[in-house]
Amino acid sequence: MKFKVIFDSRLTIDQKMNNTVVKASKIWLSSPHMGGTEQHYVQQAFDSNWIAPLGPNVQGFEEAIEDYLSGGVHVAALSSGTGAIHLGLKLLGVGPGDIVLCQSLTFSASANPITYLGGQPVFIDSEKDTWNMSPELLEEAIQHFLSKGKKPKAIIPVHLYGMPYKAEAIRELSLTYGIPVLEDSAEALGSKYHDVPCGTFGDLAVLSFNGNKIITTSGGGALVAHTREHKEKAVFLSTQARDAAPHYQHSEIGFNYRMSNVLAGIGRGQMEVLQARVESRRANHQYYLEHLGKLEGIEFLQEPEGMFSNRWLSCILTPSYEAREKLRLALEAENIESRPLWKPMHLQPVFADCPAFSDGTSEELFQRGLCLPSGSNLDVTDLNRVIAAITKSYTP
Ligand SMILES: *Cc1c(COP(=O)(O)O)cnc(C)c1O
Repeated sequence: MKFKVIFDSRLTIDQKMNNTVVKASKIWLSSPHMGGTEQHYVQQAFDSNWIAPLGPNVQGFEEAIEDYLSGGVHVAALSSGTGAIHLGLKLLGVGPGDIVLCQSLTFSASANPITYLGGQPVFIDSEKDTWNMSPELLEEAIQHFLSKGKKPKAIIPVHLYGMPYKAEAIRELSLTYGIPVLEDSAEALGSKYHDVPCGTFGDLAVLSFNGNKIITTSGGGALVAHTREHKEKAVFLSTQARDAAPHYQHSEIGFNYRMSNVLAGIGRGQMEVLQARVESRRANHQYYLEHLGKLEGIEFLQEPEGMFSNRWLSCILTPSYEAREKLRLALEAENIESRPLWKPMHLQPVFADCPAFSDGTSEELFQRGLCLPSGSNLDVTDLNRVIAAITKSYTP
C-alpha cells in the first residue's frame, strides 16, 4: 500500500516528528498516465520553436489517429472535445431553432454546443443493455417532430464509459430519415463494434484528450471526418476562418479551436501506448467483476454481442440510491474517489425546458450507478484497497 506522510501545519517541528499522521494515498477515478516518449515530442516542439497551434506534432498526431482508426478517415486535432462538437454541429448545418436529438445520459459537453449555435436540444433516454441512446426512443422522437413538420437536424449518440452504442441501428435510422449523426466518441477511443473502431461511425465523430480520458494531451480533442473537404473546413473554421488573402480577411465567423503543437507532442507519445491503456482498463474491469460480481445485488454492464469496450470507467449498479451513497461515502472515507454515473441531461436544471423522450432508464442508472477508480496506472494493491472498502461496507 502507498502511504503519504501528512504533517499538521499547526505543530512545531519536534511535535511533527512525533505526531506524523499516516494516511493512505488518494486513489483517483481516472488520472493521466504518461507512456514515456511524450517529452521527446514536446522537446522537438521546443527545439524547432513550433510553439504554435500548428506544426509537425499536430500533423504527426493526426496521422497517428488516422492510422489507428483506419477506414480512410481525416482527423483535425482541436483544443477540446467540446470545441470539436461545436464545429461538428456547425459543419452539419445546425443553426438557430434547429432540433438536435442528443443522448440524455452523458456529460454536459455533449449537449452544450447545441445551444452555442442557438439549436434546440431534445434528449433521448438510454437502453438497458448498453446504457446508450435507445434506437426505439430515437425513432419515436424523429416521428414526433416529422409529424409536426420539423425535421431534426442532427443526432448525437454517445459511447458512454467506452461501451459502444448500437451503431448499426442508429445509422439505419439516420439513413432512413436523412438525419446526420455526430458520434460522441470522447470516452471510446479504443472501443469497437463488430471490429470497427468507435470514432468512425458518424458522419462526423468527436474524440477528447482531456486529462481524465483514456489518453490525454492535458486538454484537447479531435474531429474525425470521412472527407478531406470536411477536415479542411474544420481546420479553416478552427483557425479564425481566414480567407486566402495577404491581409486578414474574413467572409465567415471563425473560432480559435486548433490544437497546440506542444500538446500534440504529448498526444503522439500517448498514441504509442493506447493499446496498452485499453488492456489495463479492461483488466481493471475484469478484476472488479471477479471480486465484486458475487456480491448480492451488485451488477456490472456486460458487453453485448459484437461490442468491445475500452472500459474507460468501470461502473457498478447497486440495488438503490441509498446503497450507492453508502458505498460512495465509505470509499471517500478511505481516500478513494468514486462518482455517481452522469446525471441525465433531461434532469439538469439548465436543460429543464428542453423536450425529452424518456422511459426512466437513465434516471434509474443515475440513482443506482457508481463509477469506480479506473485509471490504467492503478496497481493491484490499489484495486484491492477499493475492493476491500466496498466489501467491508456493502450490505444489499
Ligand atoms: C469529455 C467528454 C466530452 C468533452 O470533451 P472535452 O475535451 O473535455 O471538451 C464530450 N462528451 C463526453 C461524453 C465526454 O466524456
